[in-house]
Parts: sequence; C-alpha cells; structure tokens
Amino acid sequence: MGAPIKIFRLFSYQPCGHELLVRVVRPAASNADQGALDAADDVADSAAEQLCTWWEQQRLQPECPHRHTPSLVAEMQEEPVGEDLFGLGRPRLGVWAAKTKYGAPWMVLGTASTEAEFWQQVEDDSALLALGPLAPAELRDVCFLTDEDAPSSRQS
Ligand SMILES: [Zn+2]
Repeated sequence: MGAPIKIFRLFSYQPCGHELLVRVVRPAASNADQGALDAADDVADSAAEQLCTWWEQQRLQPECPHRHTPSLVAEMQEEPVGEDLFGLGRPRLGVWAAKTKYGAPWMVLGTASTEAEFWQQVEDDSALLALGPLAPAELRDVCFLTDEDAPSSRQS
C-alpha cells in the first residue's frame, strides 16, 4: 500500500504573472492496482482544480479583471524545504524554486531566508537530492492555498 503523499503545484497566470501554489493530498493507493492509483490521481487533480477555481473567482478576478491563462510551472511530490509549506495557506509567500534534471514541471520548492540557506537544507535531505535539483533557485512571490484551509470559508 503506498502512503498518502502531498502534492505541490505552482501555476502562473498570464499575461500578468500572478502565481498560485496549491498543496493537495493524493490518497494512499496500492502500487499494484492501476485503477486505485488512477483514482488517487483523480482525487488530487480535482482537489487542485477546485482550489484554483476558487482562487480565480474569489481572489484573482476581483483584483485583476483581465482574462488570464494559467499554466503549470512547477510540481513537487516530496516534502519541501522549510516549515511554511507544511502549514496553512497564506496570501503571500516567498518560495524558492529550483529546476531539476528531470525537466519541467519537476522542481524543488521551499522556504528559507536566503538562497544559500535553501541549498543547505536541500543538501541535508536525501529525498530532495534524489530529485536532481539544479542551481540557481529562483525566489517566487506566490499565493499559497491548501486543501486544509477551512473549506467553508472557501465556498461561495
Ligand atoms: Zn492579472
């Protein structure tokens, strides 16, 4: 039985460059059961979509009534650097993002006060090193939203 995993997805909204980072949980599923794996992927995908839709309608549109096109710029399925991305969402957060040798959209994400501190923590973490992160990391200014942020306050 595979364990549940946290999935991070970073979207960039063109033409303005607004950035939304979502965290959702992909439920546990047996690695031997492709149907169960697909179903777990669907749960994570639809949770991420719901967060994006809520944010677009409730936060983005009122502030910037453009027509926006989102694109996926980063995905990570490992535990990130720092504490912030384990907590609840927040309207603004500076997040370091480093590309990996596996190419887009795979990135290593995390929070740290400096880039040097970010890399120091990546180097202490074998799971993150296994992702093949590539310097430099870029500091991105994102809105962070999770599937644990009070659902009632997200409905309208
Ligand atoms: Zn905009």
